[in-house]
Amino acid sequence: MDDNCVDLLNAEVLEAAGVTDSSDSSDSEESATPPETYVKKFQPPVAPENCSFLQHKRTKTLHVVDSRFPRSTGCGRLVSADYVAPSNVRYDAAVCHTCSRHAKKDSFSLS
Ligand SMILES: [Zn+2]
Repeated sequence: MDDNCVDLLNAEVLEAAGVTDSSDSSDSEESATPPETYVKKFQPPVAPENCSFLQHKRTKTLHVVDSRFPRSTGCGRLVSADYVAPSNVRYDAAVCHTCSRHAKKDSFSLS
C-alpha cells in the first residue's frame, strides 16, 4: 500500500517536471538510424595490407602493387605510365586474378 502511494507521487512529480511529456518528440526523427539492409551492399575491392592498387588505363583492371616492390605488379608486370592510381575504386572493379592470388599467398607466408 505504501509503495503504491510513493509511485503515484513520483509519477506526479515527473509529469510536473515535463519528463514524461512526449508530445514534442517529432524533432528526433533525424536521429533514427537507416535500415541496415540499405547500407549493406557490394563493397569495392580492398588492397591487401602493405599493398595498393594500380589501375591499367586501357583495360581498367586493378593490379596489386606491393609497397616493398613498387616497380612491378603482383603478376610480374613492370609498372609503367599505363598504370595509374585509381581515384575511385568501384565495387565492380576487376582485380587481376594473378595479383590477388599472389598477394594472398604472400600475406599468408608472412604471418
Ligand atoms: Zn596483375
